[in-house]
Amino acid sequence: MNKPNNKILVINTGGTITMAAKASGELQAGKGEVLIELIKNLTTDLCSTIEVKPLTGADGAVIGTSDSSEIGPKHWDAMASMIISHNDDYDGFVVLHGTDTMSYTASALSFCLAQNTKPVVVTGAQVPLSKPGSDGLQNLRLALYVADQSGKSLPALSEVMICFAGQLLRGNRSRKSSTRSAVGFSTPNAQILGELFPVPTIFKEQLRALPNAYPPLNNSSLGYSDKVLSMNLNPGFTGELLLKIIKGSDIEGLVLRVFGSGTAPDDFNLAQVVEQAKNETNDRFKCAVIVTDVYNGSLDIHRYAAGKNLRSPFIIDGRDMTPEAASTKLMWVLGSDDRKQQLVKLLGSAVCHEMSAK
Ligand code: ASP
Repeated sequence: MNKPNNKILVINTGGTITMAAKASGELQAGKGEVLIELIKNLTTDLCSTIEVKPLTGADGAVIGTSDSSEIGPKHWDAMASMIISHNDDYDGFVVLHGTDTMSYTASALSFCLAQNTKPVVVTGAQVPLSKPGSDGLQNLRLALYVADQSGKSLPALSEVMICFAGQLLRGNRSRKSSTRSAVGFSTPNAQILGELFPVPTIFKEQLRALPNAYPPLNNSSLGYSDKVLSMNLNPGFTGELLLKIIKGSDIEGLVLRVFGSGTAPDDFNLAQVVEQAKNETNDRFKCAVIVTDVYNGSLDIHRYAAGKNLRSPFIIDGRDMTPEAASTKLMWVLGSDDRKQQLVKLLGSAVCHEMSAK
């Protein structure tokens, strides 16, 4: 039996799940009350108290969002600080979110909440709750089921996860893999954490070990830089052009998706560009993180001679990190002076299982 007083906080940031169609057919912010009523009705059989709050900033003002394309550093700070400040008041958290940037948010939150021991379940839908055929109700019910662990024989879940299409995924390993299918997310380089349909099953061996010692679960772990450029290496793109872009901007860090297992053409000497960019910007530009542009797999920059220009102490090997995890991790590391000072250590190792060991 569930504890009658178990409490779950649902933070509503918008997304398709809560949207409705305008006369033109375009989806836009919908009526949140419909959703709230729905959730209240669900509480009876989920046996928990479920509170729904809009995303609010530190000053208590609602940060209105609808499409997740709007979500960025200030929203991640707001979400994380709601979870941190209400940590003792709730047993679990559900974040309702648009699918377009859901993997970025789940990754971003995973770093500052690395030591959080309560489930944080991010979910949304491909089709609005208000429309026939919506996947939203099932996603929401299963997210609430996972967030509310009382009285269940589930192993303890204590990380930032995505619950979608009956699957439970590690947030910082996830990628949006379909714009249409109900199975909208996958973790190309990691096993899933659980299958929730038809019978909820958690794969205990996939769950993370105890949280790392860093960062502390308080507001000092917040903060994300908005000065990170994330881009693909295109055939024909030159190092000279990249250097011009970095020098002519405020960019402090670069996430570059390189070819295959870690190759780049001779005209693109990233090691040289990064060194020059550091020198010529008085160390305003800090480093580059590289990941593969291939959906599945890891970097191995020593495998091919064509990887030679990617080897430098200021180029961090992102191994099998997703581009979303690499971008948000670099934004997070550059988001505080304390973390900047530990840049090489933090970027070179996993903070919360976002990449595999070497
Ligand atoms: N454009 C929407 C969003 O990300 C897509 C969705 O939620 O599925 O907000």
